Amino acid sequence: MEFIDLKTQYQELKKSIDERIQTVLDHGQYIMGPEVHELESRLAEYTGASHCITVASGTEALLISLMAVGVGEGDEVITTAFSFIAAAEVIALLGAKPVFVDIEPESCNIDVDLIETKITSKTRAIMPVSLYGKPADMDRVNDIANKHGLVVIEDAAQSLGATYKGRKSANLSTIGCTSFFPSKPLGCYGDGGAIFTSDGELAQVMREIRVHGQSRRYVHSRIGVGGRMDTLQCAVVLAKLERFDWELEQRRKIGALYDELFGNRVWRNRRDSGYESAFAQYTIGVENREAVQAALREREIPTAVHYPIPIPLQPAYAQFGDEDQFPVAVDMARRVISLPMGPYMQPNVVRYIAESVLSQIRC
Ligand SMILES: *Cc1c(COP(=O)(O)O)cnc(C)c1O
Repeated sequence: MEFIDLKTQYQELKKSIDERIQTVLDHGQYIMGPEVHELESRLAEYTGASHCITVASGTEALLISLMAVGVGEGDEVITTAFSFIAAAEVIALLGAKPVFVDIEPESCNIDVDLIETKITSKTRAIMPVSLYGKPADMDRVNDIANKHGLVVIEDAAQSLGATYKGRKSANLSTIGCTSFFPSKPLGCYGDGGAIFTSDGELAQVMREIRVHGQSRRYVHSRIGVGGRMDTLQCAVVLAKLERFDWELEQRRKIGALYDELFGNRVWRNRRDSGYESAFAQYTIGVENREAVQAALREREIPTAVHYPIPIPLQPAYAQFGDEDQFPVAVDMARRVISLPMGPYMQPNVVRYIAESVLSQIRC
């Protein structure tokens, strides 16, 4: 069994993926070829954002967004204490201070009630993460940001395809960033990412930053990065996009089946109305994680831990926080396990996994 079954997906989509790749090999425009522009317009349409800027990775999307907003030395950016490292990393990389906020136990997303306590005169932006595929409570984050004149950048690396009150994740705030890392809900066959915004001026700045701050060939109006996404990777995403909505439906069915089988016997994400998760992960929480993981390993069921250490407790980030301030993140980091999830899973496999977990749990 695979944790994320990319082989079956390739077999299902082989014809169109192969054709798309062959087209790029034939035209030879490996950098900023027609597939780059096609993908950007398709994804803008998909999310409803006016602009989509493809970039080299999800991390690069977050970095370029912060650069475009002008975040730098002395600034503070508010983000979650519990996520993949990327958002905190790019804040620190620009010389700004990541200010961590604990999570809410229902979703493992940023606890919006705590955000205002962290705002200072140095705060420039808020970067919530839509973890496991479920959007953060973006309307409330936006309200706080508007009140204090801050920019909101959603880290939608795990949530492309999710909806929040009928709107698509990555188009829920001034800027949204996603990733096409192979294991994400919409993945390519290498690294890739995209930024979404409906602010035309910001979009132009981000397009320039993506290509070394170039406003015209060899005229560098600002400091930028080498941040383009390969044409070949855009071709792969274009092929997969044809099936994406169907795949999301399947993920939701698998998620609903897991939910039904687990009931209230493990921690699991609350399914609030108005939210449709992209189910990047199906994550549960148990008290005896190591025993559960070992038992699953024996049955050849792969698992992963997203994430074992809250960011403020990471050695490189200890300088920014105090571990006592993040009780929920500390607790969830000790309990969470992600189970196999994907659009091509069979219900009997889901049942087998759930039974294997339930026979081991201590809550
Ligand atoms: C994967 C991920 C990223 C980074 O994406 P890359 O494309 O791997 O750089 C950022 N944030 C979150 C929450 C992620 O899951």
